[in-house]
Amino acid sequence: MKTCYSCGGKVEKKLVEVEIRGVSVREMPAEVCTQCGEKYFDTKTATFIQRITSYVSSKRREYLADVLQEASS
Ligand SMILES: [Zn+2]
Repeated sequence: MKTCYSCGGKVEKKLVEVEIRGVSVREMPAEVCTQCGEKYFDTKTATFIQRITSYVSSKRREYLADVLQEASS
């Protein structure tokens, strides 16, 4: 990709931090628009981020349920 889909600006390859559902993943390769900051990920990276964030958020739910239950008993 050479230009941004939303503004037509130039995109650069960079390592970025992504945050989804309160889970952040650092140093993910992305193409970032130098004008509007829009980030683009390739399919492989997007799938990886998706997996990591849903794993962490489901584990966190289990963990919180556990901790909160302990606190109330
Ligand atoms: Zn842009």
